[in-house]
Amino acid sequence: MSNFIGYRCSLCNAEYLPGQVTYTCPKDGGNLDVALDYDSLRHKYQPEDVTSRREESLWRYLPLLPVPDPGGEGTSIRAAGWTPVYTLERLAAPLGLRHVWLKDESRNPTASFKDRASAVVVARAREIGADVVVTASTGNAGAALAGMAAALGQKAVIFAPKSAPPAKVAQLLVYGAKVILVDGSYDDAFDLTVKAAAEFGWYCRNTGYNPFTAEGKKTAAFEIWEWWRDEHRQWHEDGSLLDSHPPLTVFVSVGDGNIISGIHKGFKDLLALGWISRMPRLVGVQAEGSAAIANAFHAGVERITPVSASTIADSISVDLPRDGVRAVRAARETGGAYVTVSDAEILKAIAALGPLGIFAEPAGAASWAGLVKAAGQGLVSEADPIIVLNTGSGLKDVRAAMQAVSAAPIIEPTLEAVKKIL
Ligand SMILES: *Cc1c(COP(=O)(O)O)cnc(C)c1O
Ligand SMILES: [Zn+2]
Repeated sequence: MSNFIGYRCSLCNAEYLPGQVTYTCPKDGGNLDVALDYDSLRHKYQPEDVTSRREESLWRYLPLLPVPDPGGEGTSIRAAGWTPVYTLERLAAPLGLRHVWLKDESRNPTASFKDRASAVVVARAREIGADVVVTASTGNAGAALAGMAAALGQKAVIFAPKSAPPAKVAQLLVYGAKVILVDGSYDDAFDLTVKAAAEFGWYCRNTGYNPFTAEGKKTAAFEIWEWWRDEHRQWHEDGSLLDSHPPLTVFVSVGDGNIISGIHKGFKDLLALGWISRMPRLVGVQAEGSAAIANAFHAGVERITPVSASTIADSISVDLPRDGVRAVRAARETGGAYVTVSDAEILKAIAALGPLGIFAEPAGAASWAGLVKAAGQGLVSEADPIIVLNTGSGLKDVRAAMQAVSAAPIIEPTLEAVKKIL
């Protein structure tokens, strides 16, 4: 039934059977790529077998996922993914770009991209009979795990830095997870989680550690593929998949590097299946104050040197990215790039997206800030079709949002007072 045949280490290429390892390569700690039986998949499925499914969630891609159906019908885990795409024409025109869209991941059940990863990890946890799932998180991964686990009645433990935005901490608590705030950074919480999981026998979801997170995140690539097929059909009658000239360019904000590597994996799956004939370009956007992966990319190396991260975009504030090598490759192997943006540019991006009806948290708006930067650097041009991802909701971090706008005036409740300020 399952097309999950094992893992391959992204560093040393060692191969493992599904039951042989759980997290990273025992030899070198490298991130493991999940291997699917492409030959079997190619014979069994056509694109229409997926695109004709009525399931409006990431579970429509079940044949291409390494987990069984987790069930949970009628709960929020069945609402993960299948996020809307909006046009950014009005915003993009002044940049001299004609075809720009935004995929709004804030529309996931817990309001961030992380639901994709957590939904699939929770399905894996159920398959292997894990009682408790644990994760380190700056907030969103934890909220997503807490929410998806709650949907299936599973137990979740979340370690977050005590500096996590209050809305995210509230979300964790309301979903009923065991929440432990760590007096330290996300990186401290990460290391502690790995130790706690080993000590107590918990299943660890940590980003860039558990190989199933990228498998969940790759579903965004599948959705982009499906959306693009439809969009492209309007451009060219033949509907040939991601074959337009120039190729589609995807902008995504990068912290640990697991979203960009997951999206890369999704497109690699589609390429291996022959469902696309051309790889889209992936552009990673990092905060200037948390740019370990961009630094490596620009130095032309894969080796990641940790930084001392500091940025308003808490979701991408990472000292040592845990999926850095694959994240560098995602841009390099697709003809993409990395750009970095300042906190001021991120705040400007929040204020720019808002009037289009899009409320992004700082890490979510960073991708738009990155496109503005890339346009200025000539990395994209007028005819390029471009899609940027808003990875998280502005409601997650209202304090940051208020820095992006000017405060509302407070007046006496009289018409005179209204007239005075208009
Ligand atoms: C986690 C996260 C990211 C970055 O994902 P990585 O896999 O850490 O690179 C970007 N935006 C938001 C809102 C996130 O929660
Ligand atoms: Zn290895």
